[in-house]
Amino acid sequence: MTQKAIFITGGASGIGLATARLFAGRGWRVGLADVNEAALATIGIAGAKTYRMDVRDRKAWTSALDEFTGGGGLDVLFNNAGIGSGGPLAEAAFDELDRVVAINFGGVLNGARIGHAYLKRAGGCLLNTASASAIYGSAGLATYSATKFAVRALTEALDGEWHGDGIRVRAIVPGFIDTPLLREPVSGSNRSIRETVTEAGLELTGVDAVAQAAWDAVHGDRVHTYIGPTAKRMAFAARWLPGRMRKMMRRGFGSQ
Ligand code: NAD
Repeated sequence: MTQKAIFITGGASGIGLATARLFAGRGWRVGLADVNEAALATIGIAGAKTYRMDVRDRKAWTSALDEFTGGGGLDVLFNNAGIGSGGPLAEAAFDELDRVVAINFGGVLNGARIGHAYLKRAGGCLLNTASASAIYGSAGLATYSATKFAVRALTEALDGEWHGDGIRVRAIVPGFIDTPLLREPVSGSNRSIRETVTEAGLELTGVDAVAQAAWDAVHGDRVHTYIGPTAKRMAFAARWLPGRMRKMMRRGFGSQ
């Protein structure tokens, strides 16, 4: 049997790295792409290939995928790289808005557009990382939330569009995951999302549970895989109690 292969963006940290470890541990060949070259150099997964790559750079996408696949097929492309962004939109710096859109959505779009040919050759799976903030527009995270809605829309659209090509398209929809992303200070404040979450008595899910959910998403038939109590609760409320979601957003994302 030929060894299966997964290419992961944002692979040097958090969810991407935990997923790489899980797939490698189950016999998959792993390619890790990230802007953080220093972190890539310390990965230590036997046989893993690393690529210093910015998901906004289309040429880098093509050369990394060509090199990793040898010009052949790819079983899974995990479009996972993303950055956090929080704080009031009315006070946000324009550079920050452009950066979040370009990485969180533009990077995922690049991966889908360029990855399609490789996935088609293998009958593979495109796995995108959305967020619980893609379930209901999230106050205090407006731009981030909007990029994740875009990722969700792309996932649903391509699940239909690529069905005839034999490519499965899936999204993981994590709630609050304990990674460095949540430890960044929210702009205009000296507090992080992590602090807000723990003070509100909400849960933080570990990265290993997300890696297992990514595995299940690749091997299952659901378009969206919700991860952690917050994501599951929001998915239920957005469907059945939209008025309650609206009130919750007036109090702030993540309030009970
Ligand atoms: P993380 O900060 O640990 O990892 C993100 C990785 O992406 C980093 O290694 C970073 O260097 C890399 N990266 C950033 N910009 C890049 C670029 N332009 N090109 C290539 N790589 C780039 O954070 P994480 O929590 O593991 O985030 C992974 C994904 O999960 C993101 O898309 C994030 O939005 C999403 N997510 C995270 C949470 C959470 O609570 N942590 C919840 C929902 C969704």
